[in-house]
Amino acid sequence: MKKCESCTSCGMPFKSAADHALGNENIPYCPYCTNTEGKLKSYEEVLQGTTGYFIHSQGLDPKAAKQMAETLLKKQPAWNQKKHSGGCCS
Ligand SMILES: [Zn+2]
Repeated sequence: MKKCESCTSCGMPFKSAADHALGNENIPYCPYCTNTEGKLKSYEEVLQGTTGYFIHSQGLDPKAAKQMAETLLKKQPAWNQKKHSGGCCS
């Protein structure tokens, strides 16, 4: 079975099981995109988290960071409901 190589919500690469939510390789999301039970957060929550990440890691202003986050999330299988083929976890 093919494993996911990155979070299907935010695209963060998985380098080891510890990068998966709850350290569980069967969960195709990273810890930042999930709640304490390993379930995917809402789009708004993930968007906020990703926006904050860009602000801190790249020094972007909040507006630019949010735009970047929206562009990024749109490409991810978890949020891209229209074309659900080619995703590694579909
Ligand atoms: Zn993620």
